[in-house]
Amino acid sequence: MISDNVRRVENAIIRACERAGRDPAAVTLVAVSKTKPAAQVIEAYAAGVRHFGENRVEEANAKIVAVNAELGTAPIWHMIGHIQSRKARDVVAYQGQRLFGLVHSIDDTPLAAKLDRAVSLTGGTPLPWLAQVNVSGEASKSGFEGQGWERESAVLDTLVAQLREAAALPGLELRGLMTMAPIVDDAEAVRPVFRSLAGLRGALEQRLGMALPELSMGMTDDYEVAVEEGATIVRVGRAIFGER
Ligand SMILES: *Cc1c(COP(=O)(O)O)cnc(C)c1O
Repeated sequence: MISDNVRRVENAIIRACERAGRDPAAVTLVAVSKTKPAAQVIEAYAAGVRHFGENRVEEANAKIVAVNAELGTAPIWHMIGHIQSRKARDVVAYQGQRLFGLVHSIDDTPLAAKLDRAVSLTGGTPLPWLAQVNVSGEASKSGFEGQGWERESAVLDTLVAQLREAAALPGLELRGLMTMAPIVDDAEAVRPVFRSLAGLRGALEQRLGMALPELSMGMTDDYEVAVEEGATIVRVGRAIFGER
């Protein structure tokens, strides 16, 4: 049952917060509903979930319209997947409406510029976003380059310059960082990746002179470790909706 799964994940987040001395209210659970039908989203909503994550814009937009209409209210929708530049406009507005409350997956400055332009064309408030940073260095992961920022000042300097430019775009509102950890058998093995992103957030706040309140990190296999390391948003799919 989806409601049992939601309770289990929420309780695991609370326990992870207790271990880390954190307030559970500071952690937002995003239920990742990609590939799952609207009916399952509504079931999770009934179990108290108010944030949902999608990774493909066409699938997402149709589902969001259906779910919002069925519920008669809108949960907060998160875009978490790679965005092709020709789809940028559909992420900003669909049928004249802003559907996403937060975009986690802006992974380079050209995409940021493209989304900024789409906001200026469609109007509306600045689009809240997270900079996706590749701190693990895995070649398969997209994101602003962040691997080795602790040791190599050039990595941090480049990132500061890129994010300073993107943060200045009037159509976008930078809220924090997102990362994807490598897939490993032992969640402990990814702890250094989460710790690195949390440290990077602090370094960037100082260099950019702005608050970066959100840290989106942790999925089904590793969200408890991510919460221990400071995640403010966890993106959990399979533990709630089952295997895809
Ligand atoms: C699919 C996905 C998730 C959720 O993964 P699970 O392993 O199902 O929890 C989280 N983040 C991103 C970016 C995803 O694409």
